[in-house]
Amino acid sequence: MPSVIIAALSMAVIFLAARTYMSGLSEPSSAQRESYRLGTVVRLTVWGADKALLDRALDDSMAEITRLESLLSVNIATSDVSKINANSGRVVAVSPETKEVVALAIKNAEKTNGAFDPTIGSLVRLWGIGTKNARVPSDSEIDAARALVDYRRVFLYEKGGKSYVAVGRGQSLDLGGIAKGWIADRIDALLKERGVKSAIVDLGGNIYALGESPKGREWKLGLQHPQKPRGEYFAVVDAVDISVVTSGAYERYFEKDGVRYHHILDPSTGRPAQSDLISVSVVSKKSADADALCTALFVMGLDRSAVFLKRHPDIQAVLVKGGNNAVFITPDLKGCFELTDGTMALEVLK
Ligand code: FAD
Ligand code: MG
Repeated sequence: MPSVIIAALSMAVIFLAARTYMSGLSEPSSAQRESYRLGTVVRLTVWGADKALLDRALDDSMAEITRLESLLSVNIATSDVSKINANSGRVVAVSPETKEVVALAIKNAEKTNGAFDPTIGSLVRLWGIGTKNARVPSDSEIDAARALVDYRRVFLYEKGGKSYVAVGRGQSLDLGGIAKGWIADRIDALLKERGVKSAIVDLGGNIYALGESPKGREWKLGLQHPQKPRGEYFAVVDAVDISVVTSGAYERYFEKDGVRYHHILDPSTGRPAQSDLISVSVVSKKSADADALCTALFVMGLDRSAVFLKRHPDIQAVLVKGGNNAVFITPDLKGCFELTDGTMALEVLK
């Protein structure tokens, strides 16, 4: 079992590493960049023999994250997403990257029958969870905002080498449930292009473990315990060239009159998902899919998730149920998953 938690600032998936990674003259050197981006702490760590190559790869990656954030953020007035929202009902010319993320978001919305829906923006704004404007809206406000959530009204196309997106009148895109994953995939590809063979891309706990660890072994990723302080994990996933993403109700929420309102919204009710799950992790080669799917599984709850996962055996997930803290994993995770919290019970989904 690894002995040191190197990175545990933000959350959901924690990169664990043995102290010995950095010792000894023959060990590869490492380089790191850390910055507040995408509303969270972004930390990129790379290992290799050529320090100059590592530094260049990291600088290019941080610049790329800044560029992609400027296209995809709802908090930046000039972003493509803000332009799409400000011009709802009309076609807007966007970058190919924006169209690609929106297309992937729609694909995941279709796959999850709308449990994940990138047109959730009107509800996200109304509730304001995670902002200083957070409040419990009235039923009529929720109904009005909910009526605007429908991914089937998003329209995308390409013409003359240009990309276009339109949302229905009054609709609002919010890519907060998928864009970090999509950006992690881009950074994974960029680092590989630059010759990096071993890296941890950590976008606020949305992790891509690139290649093998510098010891030539699998990475160890800890899953944040949903009911314990940050950095305390309940399980460890072995990962090689794979992403692990977690959604939980314990990161962004506010409390009013003793009720907790968290940031994962159920498009069918317009309210924070009344899920019996308290944490969902998805393990996937594609971080964008993992990001969208863990949000969707959280909304679905345990029973619907179990049916969904049986129908999609290619998706690997770890579900934690509230109350008794039972942990459920998909069958293919058996060989690379270790439950480290002895008080929790493990069940393998059929
Ligand atoms: P996830 O479960 O992955 O996603 C939850 C988020 O997805 C919600 O916050 C909401 O935005 C959206 N969502 C909720 N329900 C659904 C649903 N059913 N289907 C689809 N989507 C849903 N945060 C800041 O505080 N300030 C910033 O300036 C800021 N900028 C950002 C810029 C970008 C490009 C991105 C990707 C994120 C940014 N964020 C910012 C963070 C963002 O607001 C979310 O809090 C974050 O993406 C949630 O990620 P998560 O992994 O915690 O939860
Ligand atoms: Mg997500």
